[in-house]
Amino acid sequence: MSIDARSLLGDLRLARKITAIRLLALVAMAGLIAFFAYVIFDARRDAEVAAQQAATSLTTAIAQDISRNFELYGLSLQGVIQGLKNPAIAEASPELRQLALFDYASKARYLNRIVVLDANGRAIAQSQGDALPKENFADRTYFKVHQRASDDILYVSEPLQSRIDQDWIIVVSRRIANADGSFGGVVAGSVSLAYFQALFMNLNAHKDDTFAILSSDGILISRHPFSLMDIGKRLGQTTLLRVIENKQTAIFRAVSPIDSMERLYAAARVPNLPLIVTYAMPEKRIYTAWRQKALTLSAMVLGLCAALAALGLLLLREFRLRRKFEIKLAAAAGHLKALSRIDQLTKLPNRRAFDERSAFEWRRGAREKSSLSILVIDVDHFKQYNDRNGHVAGDMALAVVAHCIRKHIKRPADFAARYGGEEFAILLPSTAPEGAEKVAEDIRRSVQLAHLSNQISEPLSVSIGVTMATPTPGTSFQDAFKLADEALYGAKTIGRNRVVFVPADGAARAGTSTNRPE
Ligand code: GH3
Ligand code: MG
Ligand code: MG
Repeated sequence: MSIDARSLLGDLRLARKITAIRLLALVAMAGLIAFFAYVIFDARRDAEVAAQQAATSLTTAIAQDISRNFELYGLSLQGVIQGLKNPAIAEASPELRQLALFDYASKARYLNRIVVLDANGRAIAQSQGDALPKENFADRTYFKVHQRASDDILYVSEPLQSRIDQDWIIVVSRRIANADGSFGGVVAGSVSLAYFQALFMNLNAHKDDTFAILSSDGILISRHPFSLMDIGKRLGQTTLLRVIENKQTAIFRAVSPIDSMERLYAAARVPNLPLIVTYAMPEKRIYTAWRQKALTLSAMVLGLCAALAALGLLLLREFRLRRKFEIKLAAAAGHLKALSRIDQLTKLPNRRAFDERSAFEWRRGAREKSSLSILVIDVDHFKQYNDRNGHVAGDMALAVVAHCIRKHIKRPADFAARYGGEEFAILLPSTAPEGAEKVAEDIRRSVQLAHLSNQISEPLSVSIGVTMATPTPGTSFQDAFKLADEALYGAKTIGRNRVVFVPADGAARAGTSTNRPE
């Protein structure tokens, strides 16, 4: 393979490696990013699910607490009703009667005051204070509800301001039935809204968290943080009422109309009561821990990607450097190879180069069925020349002979070499005997005309043996060369300074030239 083709192949290999490394690095980075993105978003979903579960558990726990307390209030009111029906209590002294009716009720926390109303809405007994309230309560909704209803239910009112002490309360009440089942009045207990506040405060919630108690039809009973202005408002909480419809618990997102903060809301119905508890936490707090984790992971991914990129770049640099080195090495090797095939004295190709070229030309001749002319040149009496003029002059004379040879080698395929010592050889592919003889004669004359004198005899001359062979499978270059050598020998024998041609299959034919000076 030629040096150019090898170099091109090397460049192609390098380009392929570069593309492969870039692709690999890209795929690795994309894989890393995809994997971490999955992990990060999975963790985000987990954070959301955990927050939803925690919020739902909290609201359910609050709802159950309220339910248990109101159950207690209901029992207290029932106790009062049963006491009223007891003739022994009715006939007892006022102090004893008070104790018997309200003792149980006084133990229920946040159940502030119990008032017993007759069928006309007038107070006939109360758990606290000496003077009975003068106000009439027949217009209160809870009174009307019991007046209309025939069954014994625990009714929970909307928030209202107490007519007795102006406190904000909700009223829990039960119907008093006469012996014949007719309406006999109402037992009403006031539950201070402070109950809910205390409940919320005990939860140690975060400052941005909000709690609320609403009636089933959306009227705000209490909220945390507390705001008196909002109590009793029918909230535009249509989302809440919609999502919790027919359900015990619900979870949804909404923007608070009060502080415009987006929150995650959890809502739970209070068992057996027309109340709903809601708890809301700011949306952004759900993801605080996750955000920290995501930041750390992202930094790690970035670091890993940077390391990958650096590694890829290092590899690319390494490959480029190696390629440069390869090119330099190839150039040096090429140079060395060329050097090893050049004769340093004459700058003509040396014997080694001649052997390679002759083998190549022989194969080509066989392939193309073309002829190959061979010239073997030997300097006459060179030993003498050396002896008389010295070796340095001898070397110079050889360089002049080489110059004369080079001058007459004109075709690109022609090839001249220093065969060894004061011998030269020439290959003339596809050259007819006449042509080969002419080249030989031109060289001979050229050397003679150079007038390289040995100071005693004639100018320095050369003898040349020429042959023309047609390479065939059964023949070898060496045989053909031997013929040319024999022709040279013939030239020496018959007087030197001449050209002798020996055809591959015939007798020698001496050239016309002689050793006389021209
Ligand atoms: P002939 O005409 O029969 O060829 O006689 P010759 O003296 O040329 O032949 P011979 O083979 O006896 O001597 C060749 C001489 O060429 C011997 C050697 O000193 C000389 N010679 C060979 N190579 C070099 C070289 O590189 N430099 C010099 N100066 N002389 C060389
Ligand atoms: Mg010789
Ligand atoms: Mg010689």
